[in-house]
Amino acid sequence: MTTDSHTHHLSTLCVHAGTYRDQTTGGACSPIFTSTAFAVPNPAAENLYPRCFNTPNQQVINRKLAALEKGEAAVVFGSGMAAIATFLLAHLKAGEHAIFQNDLYGGSMQLISQELPRLGVQVSWGANVAEFAALIRPETRLIYVESPSNPLLRCVDLVALATLGKRHGVLTVIDNTFATPINQNPLPLGIDAVIHSATKYLNGHSDVNAGIVVASAEIVSRVTASAVSFGGMLDAHACSQLERGLKTLALRVQRHNENAGTLARFLAAHPAVARVNYPGLPEHPEHAIAARQMSGFGGMLSFELHQPEHVDRLLSRLKIVMPALSLGGVESLICVPSRSSHRTMTPAQRQRAAISDGLSRVSVGIEDIEDLLADFAAALSMQ
Ligand SMILES: *Cc1c(COP(=O)(O)O)cnc(C)c1O
Repeated sequence: MTTDSHTHHLSTLCVHAGTYRDQTTGGACSPIFTSTAFAVPNPAAENLYPRCFNTPNQQVINRKLAALEKGEAAVVFGSGMAAIATFLLAHLKAGEHAIFQNDLYGGSMQLISQELPRLGVQVSWGANVAEFAALIRPETRLIYVESPSNPLLRCVDLVALATLGKRHGVLTVIDNTFATPINQNPLPLGIDAVIHSATKYLNGHSDVNAGIVVASAEIVSRVTASAVSFGGMLDAHACSQLERGLKTLALRVQRHNENAGTLARFLAAHPAVARVNYPGLPEHPEHAIAARQMSGFGGMLSFELHQPEHVDRLLSRLKIVMPALSLGGVESLICVPSRSSHRTMTPAQRQRAAISDGLSRVSVGIEDIEDLLADFAAALSMQ
């Protein structure tokens, strides 16, 4: 089979890449291999073991994601945080320095600000490529970004970031969860490593926790060597469920893109709404960057009400859109970052980060857009 080929289009790769060919029955789907003990055929052969990240169902996901992100290799983890933590711990040591975008997923912020300094790793924060450049020192090992970011959907110029990294011999890493490989492939733009919380769009049905690192074979082999010691693997059943989710990724993301674009324009024109953050809107500060490096603008948006005190009424009136924290599933979800992901920040920190009390973040699902618009119209009326 040549379906891992980088010449196939993304929708085809979603369906076919990595599939384990079932020689016994000729079945169309990868069988589930549940063993944790595998016979060793000869002393030189690799020992298969789920915590060695090398069993057949893990390899199916690794091959599919390497193909979708146009990377040499990939390694699947038991959660997005396992992927992020293992990647950082595999590359950073005491005395080294790392630069992070200051608008990251809350769990990543916690890991970076609580765990890394304790291990003697120095940490700096910046907003864009110009700021990252000014922060680079001789001991800087990596620069880590999210684009689009959470919850303001800020975008980083990935070509400029890759150029900066190469010039200084600094590794560049992106959490590509919000974009998905359907909308954005950072590796061909020169970024060194891509990480996903596969819990979100990749699985897409809000029922599996998983993570993935995609990069060169050399980087993936380094990360896997550390991962075997840290132990954050994904089991065969969850791999199989994730594989099923991935088969419809391109189709789902296409609908997420369309629905979010339409909802963003609807909200931007609504008198109760002060501001909409969506990279697909021309007024978004990095719209030009996003348009250059993304083939679709994604399913995530956030918006601010003129009257922040009406946020509770909005959430309680929505009938289809569910107030919940996660994202990237088929169902539409809404949350208020100042009370959830960014709750531990002080009001002053939140103000600096532009996370106002009236800011709501929407993970726009794949429902019929007319129903979503009607739900928001009714919930926002007479705000
Ligand atoms: C959810 C999320 C993570 C963490 O992933 P888990 O699977 O929950 O561990 C990391 N980055 C982003 C952008 C996320 O949305």
